Amino acid sequence: MNIILVGIQGSGKGTQAKFLSKKFKLCHISTGNLLRNITGDRKKEIDSLINNGKLVPDKTILEILKERMIQDDCENGIILDGFPRNIEQAKLLEKELNIQKVIEIQISDQESEKRLMGRISCPKCGIDYNIYTAPKPQKEGFCDKCGSQLTRRKDDNEESIKKRIKTYHEETKPILNYYKNKLITVNGEQSIEDVSKEILKKISNSPL
Ligand code: ADP
Repeated sequence: MNIILVGIQGSGKGTQAKFLSKKFKLCHISTGNLLRNITGDRKKEIDSLINNGKLVPDKTILEILKERMIQDDCENGIILDGFPRNIEQAKLLEKELNIQKVIEIQISDQESEKRLMGRISCPKCGIDYNIYTAPKPQKEGFCDKCGSQLTRRKDDNEESIKKRIKTYHEETKPILNYYKNKLITVNGEQSIEDVSKEILKKISNSPL
């Protein structure tokens, strides 16, 4: 089974992707994380695009994604988080992977901005926390798991957030119509557990 998660910034795609990858033994690929962890020649250009709230060129991201998809842990299926982000990417993906379900996690723009302004993450283990919403770290400013100091992502500043939200509406939202026959929509403005429950219920109610 291959699944795509779609949702505006801060909608909880990463959180639900982790849950679903455990539940269905699928490999979780976050294109944002792949790009942030890139090394070598491509790093400088990619970092600058990300920090300015711009998208990385379709060709580059597809190349990086394809390198990741052929690894052994993807044999059982993939959950894509952050890809595709426009119709062109959706068309390119179609040539590479058969998608069974597309899950849209819906939250308002206002909620998205609030979550991103409050998002802090652990630079060591990659866990996300939120000072306004959930989950909050047990000890303020430090990771529950490894104790490292939590940091804000460079692209979680007001200007970049506004740009990314605009791009979501203009470029990413149209893919929902492209995938309308495979689409499941859930309410992202409920507890993490309730979002997971709604996803599972809707997956089991809709035939593959
Ligand atoms: P967010 O959803 O909050 O923007 P991500 O971690 O998913 O965070 O992505 C961070 C950045 O990585 C994006 O703003 C963009 O620059 C780049 N990126 C991620 N996925 C893609 C993609 N599919 N195509 C182009 N750029 C991407």
